[in-house]
Amino acid sequence: MARRVTKRGDERTDLSGERDVLICGASFAGLMVARQLAGSGADVLMIDRYEIGERQTSACVIPTAWLEELGLLESERQRFDSVLIHTAHGSLRLPVPWSFSTFDYRTLCDLLWQECDARFETAKVNGRAGNPNAVDTDRGTITAPLVVDAMGWKRVLASDSTVQPPDAPLSRGLEVHPKGRNENLEVWIDRKYVPAGYGWSFPAGDELRIGVGSFDPRFHVRETTELLATDVGAESVGWQGNWIPHELRDGTDDGVFFAGDSAGHCLPLTAEGIRPALYFGAALGLELRAVVEGSQSRDSALAAYHRFNASHERQFRWLLNSQNALPRVPPRLVRPILAAAFAGAAGKFAFNRYLGIAPPQFARTAGARRVREPRAFTPA
Ligand SMILES: Cc1cc2nc3c(=O)[nH]c(=O)nc-3n(C[C@H](O)[C@H](O)[C@H](O)COP(=O)(O)OP(=O)(O)OC[C@H]3O[C@@H](n4cnc5c(N)ncnc54)[C@H](O)[C@@H]3O)c2cc1C
Repeated sequence: MARRVTKRGDERTDLSGERDVLICGASFAGLMVARQLAGSGADVLMIDRYEIGERQTSACVIPTAWLEELGLLESERQRFDSVLIHTAHGSLRLPVPWSFSTFDYRTLCDLLWQECDARFETAKVNGRAGNPNAVDTDRGTITAPLVVDAMGWKRVLASDSTVQPPDAPLSRGLEVHPKGRNENLEVWIDRKYVPAGYGWSFPAGDELRIGVGSFDPRFHVRETTELLATDVGAESVGWQGNWIPHELRDGTDDGVFFAGDSAGHCLPLTAEGIRPALYFGAALGLELRAVVEGSQSRDSALAAYHRFNASHERQFRWLLNSQNALPRVPPRLVRPILAAAFAGAAGKFAFNRYLGIAPPQFARTAGARRVREPRAFTPA
């Protein structure tokens, strides 16, 4: 696939004007919202500071079933039916009743984008331009009755600016991408690398994605990411990192819709954020589609999405409690506790319950509810 680059100079024309839907952020959440709107007849503009797929934002591990349900298997790089956990007092392998896959970020984004009929432009969002329907960008002020913030943890379009590390509920994640091969999806729960958090090595074909995530944003993970890479005999090259939200936030704020990391849709404890971004993006896309097709008002979409988001509070809280408890477990007990919790039927139940937070079947349901024939959009 041809490599695109972000537009520069004269190509950066003024984008000011009114659209039906403005989606800010063209990664997992934003692309999923746009995909749900395809064929609705609405004038959808999606913007991002980079071209689609240009900047990988994660280690790109996801339950395989989500790739299957969305027709994204072409992006798959490797598949795993177990997780190999290393603790300070020995290792154990946890069988997974379904499978995880690593994927290629650019390919996955391209595949999702092929299913969209929105217009895409590169633009940097600076914030709200006075009201929730007007967005200030470096290419002009864009207005729309339906505005989506899918720009990640910063929650750029919030009515206040409260999301700032280190005080906000954010974890820190950093990884390197050396060449290398491995058969195992590996996780380290070892205070040698991070007092509260975990390290990982996720193979993706001929590349390894090796990193450390700290639940405590004050703990810097660069040195221990290098240490982990050295310990597994890999080079510390191809750095990428970001803040990771670990608390569910409101899905709406003063008329703006939020999906993905901007709404804290990243599961605490595991920091799995891609599946939830796709899941909540699909749910939001359905609500917006109902607005553009005239079967509900913008206000009822705001209320419905707010409720849908809030209905996941208990599950996110359960994982956050586990995240808070993990660093308090004495190191020599980590392995026996994991062995007991994930043995046999108990392990199957726990993994299935975890998958059920954002089940892959939802992608199928959401996809089936998309209407393929274009319809005219009459603003409310
Ligand atoms: C090191 C690391 C490894 C991770 N590994 C995994 C993993 O293996 N599996 C998993 O499920 N999760 C993982 N996560 C979490 C996952 O990356 C996020 O939860 C996920 O990317 C959220 O998707 P999103 O679409 O909400 O936001 P993002 O993927 O962060 O995308 C936000 C988009 O908004 C754009 N943007 C941001 N600000 C602006 C602006 N001002 N103007 C215009 N555009 C803007 C960005 O360019 C980007 O394209 C990892 C996170 C980190 C940091």
